Amino acid sequence: MKIKTLAMGSIGTNCYVVSDDIGNAAIIDCDGDPMPLFFYISENNLNPTHILLTHGHYDHIGAVEKVKEQYDCTVVAGKDEIRVLTDPAVNCSIYSGIPITVLPDVLVSDGDTVTVGNMEFQILFTPGHTEGSLCYFIEDNIFSGDTLFQGSCGRTDLPTGDWSAILRSLKMLKDLPGDYTVFPGHGPSTTLGIERSSNPFM
Ligand SMILES: [Zn+2]
Repeated sequence: MKIKTLAMGSIGTNCYVVSDDIGNAAIIDCDGDPMPLFFYISENNLNPTHILLTHGHYDHIGAVEKVKEQYDCTVVAGKDEIRVLTDPAVNCSIYSGIPITVLPDVLVSDGDTVTVGNMEFQILFTPGHTEGSLCYFIEDNIFSGDTLFQGSCGRTDLPTGDWSAILRSLKMLKDLPGDYTVFPGHGPSTTLGIERSSNPFM
């Protein structure tokens, strides 16, 4: 399994491409001009079949329509995130001047798995940053969206944000057994072990 990080869009949101050994790939969140993503995919002969969304904020979904059009991907999101994905005022795209709505093809629940090629992503609901935020787990990696950052966590002052809910979600992550590499929606990757011992919000 290979993980590629591309910082995309107006605020450099992390877009991850996770691919198996025969080139099947999942794209986790995508904003802005998708050309760097298209270039990486074609350069590596990948077949992206899924777009996995951690949540519905404008800076995580801005390129979904173009990427879906290019590869006919299945768009996956949490069942509690529909309001954020489909309302430009709630996903904040209305303030950027280009209203965005995304209608997912598959809605997942806590504990579900999504199979992409020979990879299996497990879903953990982690509400708080938005009401339907989730994390994707695969092997010893977590794609944490805007729930957990290196040394910090996502804001909760935007629509559907809930401070006590994100604290509960962070506690749930903290209490997981074992260690994981954490790939957040913004900023550098970290490990759950480092965050457990040094992140003030955990
Ligand atoms: Zn966000």
